[in-house]
Amino acid sequence: MNKVSVECRNIRLSYGSTEVLKDINLQIEPGEFFALLGPSGSGKSTLLRLIAGFNQHSAGQLLVDGKDISQVPPHKRNIGMVFQSYALWPHMNVWDNVAFGLVERKVRRKEIRERVGAALDLVGLSGFAKRRPNELSGGQQQRVALARTIVIEPQVLLLDEPLSNLDKNLRVQMRQELLSLQRRLGITTIFVTHDQEEAMTTADRMAVMDQGIVQQVGAPYELFDYPRNRFVADFVGTMNVVPARVKSRNDSLITMELDGAGFIDLAVVHDSPSGDTLNLSFRPHTVQLETGKLWGESRFLWFPGTVEHSEFLGEFTRYEVRLGQHKLVADQPHYAGRALYAPGTELMVGLEPAQIRLLPG
Ligand code: ADP
Repeated sequence: MNKVSVECRNIRLSYGSTEVLKDINLQIEPGEFFALLGPSGSGKSTLLRLIAGFNQHSAGQLLVDGKDISQVPPHKRNIGMVFQSYALWPHMNVWDNVAFGLVERKVRRKEIRERVGAALDLVGLSGFAKRRPNELSGGQQQRVALARTIVIEPQVLLLDEPLSNLDKNLRVQMRQELLSLQRRLGITTIFVTHDQEEAMTTADRMAVMDQGIVQQVGAPYELFDYPRNRFVADFVGTMNVVPARVKSRNDSLITMELDGAGFIDLAVVHDSPSGDTLNLSFRPHTVQLETGKLWGESRFLWFPGTVEHSEFLGEFTRYEVRLGQHKLVADQPHYAGRALYAPGTELMVGLEPAQIRLLPG
């Protein structure tokens, strides 16, 4: 199969006077599994529908395989879309649902038989051809919707929250199936979700959107480790964001003052922001809590703190800890028999400078 790229160049779209896509620039590589991640209302579905051709942008270009398809109507785009609701025909059996698009395109009967058979095989539903959609589980309906889309052999596959109607366990199973299917087909796929776990576990790369703006694009681990701004830091995982004053700064080192807690030296990196007040950002699992003797753990800087709240989550316990004027979240791995720190416990809080990133204040 000829794998194609999808490119959005300076795309804008408004509903009435409200601009919901603001200068979108994205380059999606051939064969990539790409996620659009963002909260409800951030513009993900609008962008997906625009790529499918159901929404028209007011400015910018949409290129597939390097060609501008802005003026090409949806049915001529060779793009397949799976809707959140699956939109299966309730009165047709599975076979006819999957065959529908081929019949419409006047494909020969023999070829329809072969292609529908192959598509049902691919999604593991060969034995279900005679069933109606209401005789299938949610996961099976989802697979029919996928089969119906891929049987057309689109160049680009668009998935709008395809797993959101499924319960948690099935979602986890289906996202692996989806990924393995995408890998076998090698089809460029754009996947909309508001669920960061779903995006992180499946996507080669993802774009985090908020308020019609692409906030950051990258591989899941890049967005997790190096969020560019506070929105991405908060949306992808849990992040401590602690404001601190810049006490001094030179080319290699910034000394920050944490109100009421002490000082911390951080190495200057190429994208360290400027300003008098910056935010220290670090993940809860990088924070250490100790009540006993500190065995010279040189990776950490230690500050006195007080436990305010704990939440036992099984694999780890999530603590809220007060440190001077600041409140932090610290996740500590849990092992059988380990007692939890009670609220009010005074302890030492270890922060690891190498795990702290500076964000604009
Ligand atoms: P998401 O998929 O991220 O939840 P949407 O793309 O559905 O977000 O919506 C983006 C914004 O556009 C929202 O503020 C939504 O209310 C608005 N919107 C979506 N569709 C329409 C429409 N047909 N008419 C007017 N506003 C719309």
